[in-house]
Amino acid sequence: MKIGSKQFDLTLKNYMEPVVCKAVNRILKDSHYCACQRCQDDTMALVLNQLPSIYYLRAADEAAAAHELEQEYLDATLALTQEAAETVHQAPRHDSDEPYHLMNYEVTAVELGFGEILPLTKACTCIQCLEDMVCYALDQIGPKYVCTTKGAAYARLDELCVKRGAQRISLFFQAISYVDRHRRHSAPRIEHHIDN
Ligand SMILES: [Zn+2]
Ligand SMILES: [Zn+2]
Repeated sequence: MKIGSKQFDLTLKNYMEPVVCKAVNRILKDSHYCACQRCQDDTMALVLNQLPSIYYLRAADEAAAAHELEQEYLDATLALTQEAAETVHQAPRHDSDEPYHLMNYEVTAVELGFGEILPLTKACTCIQCLEDMVCYALDQIGPKYVCTTKGAAYARLDELCVKRGAQRISLFFQAISYVDRHRRHSAPRIEHHIDN
């Protein structure tokens, strides 16, 4: 993400993705549906959009937390995947050679939003705090996965940016305040160092 002229490379992961990936592999393996990469990714996008996104996972043991998540969501995910696989099977898009990308567009939209808002605040902008803010906001907003080509991606992003209304801005501020109250960074905040 970009704040002013500074570029920050955030590591963001929706912990729901591996759960859905597992369900998609399982359903497609035991069915007559096409299991090419495109059909797999189209199915994943449909399923992921019907589940909450879980980017913000605060756990000492990440593997255990991911396992717990799978236990909680796998059954529901399998049922959703069955429906989604049928939808993709009815209208497959695997005949197109156009390169595509499976992504959650909200990630880019939220990063852009924080990039605009953070310079107006005193929020800590260390990588840890930035990741936590973006993850927190993404989970509140919910996912918008799409499997689409680059040109279409930009069109869609424009649309998301226009939709960024007051509600979304207040959510960004909520995320900033939450992360400030639950700070995880190891280094002291430079601007408030003396207060600490
Ligand atoms: Zn296919
Ligand atoms: Zn920080």
